[in-house]
Amino acid sequence: TDSDTADEAVRATCDDASTCKRFATSKGYWRDPYIQYFIRSVGERKAPEINRGYYARVQGVNHLLDAFIRRAECNCQVINLGAGLDTTFWRLKDENLLPRKFFEVDFPTVVARKIHHIKTKPPLSRAIIETHSTDSLLLDAHSLDSDRFCIIGVDLRDISNLDEKLKKFQLNPELPTLLLSECVLVYMTPSHSSNLLHWAAETFHTAMFINYEQVNMSDRFGQVMIENLQRRHCTLAGVEACQSLESQRERFLKNGWEHADALDMMTVYSMLPADDVARMERLEFLDEKELLEQLLQHYSICWASRDKLSLDDVTE
Ligand code: SAM
Repeated sequence: TDSDTADEAVRATCDDASTCKRFATSKGYWRDPYIQYFIRSVGERKAPEINRGYYARVQGVNHLLDAFIRRAECNCQVINLGAGLDTTFWRLKDENLLPRKFFEVDFPTVVARKIHHIKTKPPLSRAIIETHSTDSLLLDAHSLDSDRFCIIGVDLRDISNLDEKLKKFQLNPELPTLLLSECVLVYMTPSHSSNLLHWAAETFHTAMFINYEQVNMSDRFGQVMIENLQRRHCTLAGVEACQSLESQRERFLKNGWEHADALDMMTVYSMLPADDVARMERLEFLDEKELLEQLLQHYSICWASRDKLSLDDVTE
């Protein structure tokens, strides 16, 4: 059916994200020793603008994520929604920043691929075994559950199934919880993403949500971005919330979140640690900055909170 084809195009986007991250890390933009086990070859060259954009995305998201985990002294959970082939679990383990439990959710077929990689690549499975206390570890084609890491195959538009599966795998609504979605909500209709944000706000007492995705999509540049995706049968069903930073914030505030802030990635870029940005900018020469600025102005990080934990400190 049409909707199966549309879902398949959305599922394929996890390869785009990881392929770009694989290329940028091969050039030294940031370190990720694990991504090679999910995406074997470095692949085609990507433009420096793309690499810098991914650098800002990864640094910006990690900054907020790590600050939350530090603030909670690791007594927290993380739920990566639409995680794709993301490697954050392994990074956090290596940096001694593992939360009590790290959950990932994606479509069952994406999860099946991820689990296959984990099963067959010792550098990936090792971290899970090392952080697991008993012999029994649940590992089947569509889910993985260990003490500290859990991967669930479920459609994020099916909230009751999502809630049920997470609770089955010991999600604890009492623990401070960080939810993350990186280029995920934009593929869902506004009502589906609103339901998801609302569910998250209702479920946890103390929570923060980090959402990275497109913004300022109503101008000419934004239209071209949409057309490029449509050419690959990928519809940005949720683009309505991507009209402005204000619409990004409002979606959270309307769905039970107490505070919400949003920055475009041009602003985030200018706030990143200057010494590392200087190192990164030397990797590939870019004499014309206009395209980079346009690109960065069309992505944003929005973060929202419900806090008893005084999360203000996190976002300073
Ligand atoms: N967050 C990852 C990253 O940044 O590397 C992957 C981003 S990729 C662009 C979008 C991911 O969201 C895909 O893995 C896709 O399968 C997942 N996704 C989109 N809609 C979903 C849904 N309704 N249910 C589950 N996963 C979904």
